[in-house]
This record gives sequence, C-alpha cells and structure tokens, in this order.
Amino acid sequence: MRLVLLGPPGAGKGTQAHRLADYYGITLIATGDIFRKNVRDETPLGLKAKSYMDAGELVPDDVVIGMLLEELRKHNNGFLLDGFPRTIPQAHALEEALAEMGRPLHSVLKISIPDEVAVARLAGRRTCPRCERTFNAELKPPKEEGVCDNCGADLVQREDDREETVRHRLEIYHRDTEPLQKFYWERGLLREVDGLGEVRDITRRSIGAFADLTRD
Ligand SMILES: [Zn+2]
Repeated sequence: MRLVLLGPPGAGKGTQAHRLADYYGITLIATGDIFRKNVRDETPLGLKAKSYMDAGELVPDDVVIGMLLEELRKHNNGFLLDGFPRTIPQAHALEEALAEMGRPLHSVLKISIPDEVAVARLAGRRTCPRCERTFNAELKPPKEEGVCDNCGADLVQREDDREETVRHRLEIYHRDTEPLQKFYWERGLLREVDGLGEVRDITRRSIGAFADLTRD
C-alpha cells in the first residue's frame, strides 16, 4: 500500500495517518517531522533547506522531495505520506520521482470536513513538541491533561492553531491544495471519506474506502 492522505487543516489527518499506518503495517512519512529532523541533524539536504530559510526564502520543492525520497529508500514496505504534496507542482514532482523509483501511488484519501468544524477543532488542539502527536481537549484528550500519552512531554498550542492563523491556512488550503483532488481523481486514485464523527469511525470508513486495494 502506497498512499497519500489529503484534507484541510483540522480534518484529523495526523491521527488517522498514525492509525492507518499501524493498521496496514506501512511506514508513516510525516513530511513536517522529516523536514525538521533533517534541519536539526544538519544533513546535506537539511543544511540546504536551512540556507533558504535563513535567507527568508521558501525551501524549493526538490529539497523537500529529496528528503522524502531518502526516507522512502530506508523502507522497502508500503508508505503513507502525510503533509505532502500540498500543491499541483509538488504532486507532479512526486509522481515523477515515485515513477522513477518504480513505486507509484496506489491511492489518495481525502478526509473532508466543513471549514467551521476545522476552526472549532483546531482551537482545542494541543501538540506534543517532542513526538508531534496531537490531542484535543474534547475529541481526543490525553490520559493526563496537558501531557503527551506517547512520550510524556508537556503539550503546547502551536502558533498554527490560533484562530486567525487557522482561517488563513484554510484559505491557502482551498487555493493551493484542494486542486489536488481533481489531479488525483483524473488518475483514478482519489477516495473520499467524511471526517465528522469519532476517530475510530473515520478510521473504519478509511479502511472501507481502501477495501478493493487489499482484497486478494
Ligand atoms: Zn509526545
């Protein structure tokens, strides 16, 4: 299974990505984590990315894709990409790179929620600064308030999850990322699930959406 997860901020992609990767026994490639890890470890690509950031410039897509491909080469099994691609040019570049590796995508899952739900959810979101797990006061509370279940670090509200930032992220999503639905639909890869409801129900719907891929 080689999958991409799409959806607006607040759709619960991070949570579902962990659950689906566990369920299928495939590698979760969370782009943000891999990017930060490369920069922190000062890998050649991390240093390259940092030089753009230090100059106040956007890191070019090929640098990010380079990091993803390096990560993919470490794992021979399937994978689930979360957080990439976010634009049509990135989707084209990824498609080419995976074709060269002989590991094209099997499917792309879009998790859908209304904008107002996204805003309401994200205001309650708390993130682990160490392992990047996310929790939500109402929807997915940690066992102990303010503490990560996975690694025990203190949870924080990311800058990204403040309401005005969330509205701006949704605008960018609609403008740059939503067109990927058509891109993948045209390739016969797109599946869509309703992102409203319980975490486990959304996982079940997602697995249902992939049922034909896993049938022997
Ligand atoms: Zn943690």
